[in-house]
Amino acid sequence: MTEPFLSLRGVSKTFSGVKALDNIDFDIYPGEVHCLAGENGSGKSTMIKVISGVYEPDAGGEIVMDGTHYAKLTPIEAINNGVQVIYQDFSVFPNLTVAENLALTGEVSNGRKLVNWKRMRTIAEEAVKKVNFKVDLDARVGDLSVADKQLVAISRALITEPKLLIMDEPTTALTHREVEALFKVVADLQSRGIAILFVSHKLEEVFEISERFTIIRNGKVVITTMPEELNHKKFAEYMTGR
Ligand code: ADP
Ligand code: MG
Repeated sequence: MTEPFLSLRGVSKTFSGVKALDNIDFDIYPGEVHCLAGENGSGKSTMIKVISGVYEPDAGGEIVMDGTHYAKLTPIEAINNGVQVIYQDFSVFPNLTVAENLALTGEVSNGRKLVNWKRMRTIAEEAVKKVNFKVDLDARVGDLSVADKQLVAISRALITEPKLLIMDEPTTALTHREVEALFKVVADLQSRGIAILFVSHKLEEVFEISERFTIIRNGKVVITTMPEELNHKKFAEYMTGR
């Protein structure tokens, strides 16, 4: 049986007395689309930041990433293990072109020095091709639609050849068509063996896209299961606690 790419064991995170994460156990496997569902304030973004090394978890828990055990890990360790996050604001540079956004970050996160423009161009071209993203590489990213800004962020993340791609509420600002297009991209990445942690509080999309999902409430895992195993009513009850 395949090993999980990532396991959290008893992971907690306290902010000045408030337990944002409370003893989280969680596994995600290579090539799995796993939704993390929960209401506003349930701890979803905090969990992402603990996984990506942005927040240091409380002492006592363990993060196992690609076979290595950590009590805490740094952002660089997470990136080097193959973790990339698409944040809700996409973290793109609006005043730079698509090519600049892609190549700059790709080079930086690969730990190499900036090279020449020709190489930058090649990196950018290869990156957008990976997600079948038809875009003018010289367009200013600030002028793109929300969905295209997101594709810039996804293309950029793929340059580092991630093993786990985390998307924090990626459909929030998308139209229905754009959501469908994003789901195709997700399915394609999954077919290449990339694990996807898809954060959402929307029942319909969790049931449409996930192979498994985990519901958290008040920082605790309520259940990890599959769409076939839980009806919509139960799902809502687990999310809200009512
Ligand atoms: P979600 O992403 O599910 O909406 P968050 O992870 O953002 O939830 O927040 C979970 C809880 O942790 C909330 O009560 C929130 O107020 C608190 N929290 C999140 N980040 C911080 C922080 N940096 N400092 C203090 N409290 C925080
Ligand atoms: Mg959030």
